[in-house]
Amino acid sequence: MSNTSAPNTSVRGKIVFITGSSRGIGAATAMAFAAQGARLLLAARRAGKLSEVASMALERGAQAVHSFQLDVRSRNAVQRAIDELPPEWAEIDILVNNAGLSRGMDKLYTGKTEDWDEMIDTNVKGLLYVTRAVVPGMVVRGRGHVVNLGSMAGEMVYPNGAVYCGSKAAERAINDGLREDVLGTPVRVTSIDPGLVETDFSLVRFHGDAARAAKVYKGLTPLTAEDVADVILWAVTRPQHVNIARVSFSSVHQANTLLIHRQA
Ligand code: NAP
Repeated sequence: MSNTSAPNTSVRGKIVFITGSSRGIGAATAMAFAAQGARLLLAARRAGKLSEVASMALERGAQAVHSFQLDVRSRNAVQRAIDELPPEWAEIDILVNNAGLSRGMDKLYTGKTEDWDEMIDTNVKGLLYVTRAVVPGMVVRGRGHVVNLGSMAGEMVYPNGAVYCGSKAAERAINDGLREDVLGTPVRVTSIDPGLVETDFSLVRFHGDAARAAKVYKGLTPLTAEDVADVILWAVTRPQHVNIARVSFSSVHQANTLLIHRQA
């Protein structure tokens, strides 16, 4: 047995592309990588919020930040954004496929088809488009790490959430399939699968109904976006030969998607 351990992977100076980095887990992940001196490529639909995150990331220690507006649901826009990156930003080292959302909580047989389209188009097709645009370069360069945001919801379906859960079950299959398909290259592929994280996620799910969103986290201590960012940073900084396939984790008040302990 070897008594020397391989060094952790440094992210200093690495180009980290984070989709959906205007809020929540994406923004917290930008801060975590900024503090390590990474170079950040930030994208989301809301340009104003993105530029706030970009300024904070520079203050936090990012070597450089390049942000641009992007809707991951548009295949052409995604391909164009990657093709037209300034040359100094083109060699993406780490892709965090984070852009995602839930819409509505309805029985499957009464759900709104517009909500389904938005979830599938963002969480599944958007993730595929970004992956398709970025990973070929990683394979050619012989380096790269893809981190996909999955969820506990991809492991166990909860009532009134079949389509969101289905989108995260698809993420799980895509994550595992990509890892199989890059086998033989040094590219690493990881799924980060948190339980309840208090972000704007529930506000978005309930179309801006803040009271309903607050109830999701009532009586429990949920994960924070920073907790998730910490796990992402941990996964990508393992030694180069170590591939973390998937990390499933939750608040201590949550055992799975159905079993949650709430204090009165
Ligand atoms: P959030 O606070 O609502 O942030 C979602 C981010 O995704 C925002 O920055 C949003 O930016 C971006 N986004 C949404 N649609 C997009 C699109 N079409 N194109 C580009 N960007 C888009 O939610 P969050 O909790 O951080 O969620 C981040 C990821 O974690 C999602 O994939 C979610 O499914 C996953 N997740 C969340 C939880 C949770 O409990 N919160 C648990 C497990 C997994 P714009 O609106 O500016 O585009």
